[in-house]
Amino acid sequence: MIGRVDSIRPEFVEFIPDRLEPGVLYVSLEYKSMAHLCCCGCGRKVVTPLSPTGWRITFDGRAITICPSVGNWQKDCKSHYLIIQNRVRWARRWSDDEIASGLEHDRQIKQDYYDESASSDSGASQKSGTHAGTKKPRKRRW
Ligand SMILES: [Zn+2]
Repeated sequence: MIGRVDSIRPEFVEFIPDRLEPGVLYVSLEYKSMAHLCCCGCGRKVVTPLSPTGWRITFDGRAITICPSVGNWQKDCKSHYLIIQNRVRWARRWSDDEIASGLEHDRQIKQDYYDESASSDSGASQKSGTHAGTKKPRKRRW
């Protein structure tokens, strides 16, 4: 059992190791994946894939920020936090209803994204131009 972690440092690796150290956010650009031990200290492994519909990172050479927040709804602890500049910012735990609508929202974003990329496949060269202005980016709720 380890305690709650309030800061985390990035470690860029090719492969995510089997044994993760608490307080380390492993980032594999090679496999577009990240993993860390849940910051609440429950010891669960949290995998956050890097993708346009998953998580994004900002790295300034020293500190890492990941977006959106990490919500461990499937885990017992149900912890919810943001990682901003290597700091773990604890967020409010969601109710079951909020989790359900959050997941639904997520699903919707993914669906929109894949619909759009499927339809733009035919004319990839005209991606900028008329199309870009018509669709506003959606804001995530958390
Ligand atoms: Zn946890």
